[in-house]
Amino acid sequence: MCFSCFFGNPVFVPAPNIDTIVSLAKRRGFVFPSSEVYGGLGSAWDYGPLGVELCNNVKQAWWRWLVHERDDIEGVDSSIILNRLVWKYSGHEATFNDWLIDCRKCNGRFRADKIVDNKCPSCGASDWTEARPFNTMLQTKLGAVAADDPTALAYLRPETAQGIFINFLNVQTTMRRKLPFGIAQVGKSFRNEVTPGNFILRTREFEQMEMEYFVAPTAEHSKLVDYWVEQYLEWFGSLGINRENLFLYEVPSEELAHYSKRTVDIMYKYFPEREKPWEELMGIAWRTDFDLGTHSKNKLDAEGKRINPDSTEDLSYFDEVAKQRFYPHVIEPAAGVNRTVLAVLMDAYSEKTNDKGETRVILKLSPQLAPIKAAILPLAKNKPEIVGMAKAIKRSLQPVLRAVYDDTGGIGKLYARQDEIGTPFCITVDHQSLEDEAVTVRDRDTWEQERIKVTDLAEHLQKRLKPFPVPESI
Ligand code: ATP
Repeated sequence: MCFSCFFGNPVFVPAPNIDTIVSLAKRRGFVFPSSEVYGGLGSAWDYGPLGVELCNNVKQAWWRWLVHERDDIEGVDSSIILNRLVWKYSGHEATFNDWLIDCRKCNGRFRADKIVDNKCPSCGASDWTEARPFNTMLQTKLGAVAADDPTALAYLRPETAQGIFINFLNVQTTMRRKLPFGIAQVGKSFRNEVTPGNFILRTREFEQMEMEYFVAPTAEHSKLVDYWVEQYLEWFGSLGINRENLFLYEVPSEELAHYSKRTVDIMYKYFPEREKPWEELMGIAWRTDFDLGTHSKNKLDAEGKRINPDSTEDLSYFDEVAKQRFYPHVIEPAAGVNRTVLAVLMDAYSEKTNDKGETRVILKLSPQLAPIKAAILPLAKNKPEIVGMAKAIKRSLQPVLRAVYDDTGGIGKLYARQDEIGTPFCITVDHQSLEDEAVTVRDRDTWEQERIKVTDLAEHLQKRLKPFPVPESI
């Protein structure tokens, strides 16, 4: 069946809520509830065959954009478990707290800053205990030690940033970098969230893409925050996220983290159905010189005392031109992989319903992010020549882009299946192909079909993926 027939007069509907994405994600192999065979584990999710590709494509797009395509950023991959002293001096042991409150009526426990209109989200009462701090770093023990041995305590990192700060000098000296320059890292972080939820938006284990951009103390820090906000707005646009679904939140001074002098959060409309639809997608913070200073052995406090008697290094920088030594300031864009993936899925989702009330889902993923770039579909699966040709085409495309072969349904069903997972191109091999060595390339978004010679196919597809070239691996 041709699509324009199916959609005589289509009605377009974007994703109405996160639940729609949860159901698509499970149905089509993007994301599954974790540990389901044992009844699940609250707010933990496993990425399936398409989800892992989508996550990898987001991370690779980010890495390419910052590390490969710019001249001023290097990458690192530090340990998840660091010396505990890192978290002492970063301030996380003392201050990485959520404020807990309990509802006296139903005993529900919540994050104080997430309560709307002073009402308990479970029972609606407004009778609360006093707020008290709860440190959200996840603990573990290193080595074969007694369960209560305090010296074995270690943390799973709650942010990737500290692994960058403690490697600042290593990177700067080995790569012979001069300010300004940045260091990027992507990887898992862990937070013992009080109230995780909303699918992959808030989980205890998640992935971050963080970059620390080191600049002189005299740089125009606030302007640099604006610069990185603009850069990220553009980048999210290149991933297919509509600017109208993003909102900039200037974090008020009383809400700033202990290290920050200014933070702008980029919020995404994760809850279009709610009166307050926004939740944080990422933050861009001016972290001052706090982190490099606090990990340095020579930094003194106001009374002239060393603030860090445990450090063996000084993470200061000597400016050859100004002939000055100082602790660089940092502008940090910190984004979540999972929240980016959720925003991308919500923005790509579209439902079309025809006059008869039949609905189809089309995932308009940007081609660079699509888990599969091309699906090769034989028009007659009982014809060995056609099947053989389709499989050979799939194999020939494999080294260039991610392609799949599928013959498990009629052509209408196969098209619909690929549309629902966002595959930009379907390639059909028919009887005519055996004669003219050409195939039909169908575009997911326009449903236009073009006849292309098999010998030109790889180049043709690559050209059409061009603004978003197929990512090389990290
Ligand atoms: P929130 O206020 O939503 O808890 P945050 O301000 O504590 O977030 P940051 O410390 O700025 O978050 O972390 C940077 C980014 O890491 C966030 O913008 C988000 O994309 C991601 N992130 C943080 N916590 C989580 C989580 N529990 N689950 C998924 N992603 C997270």
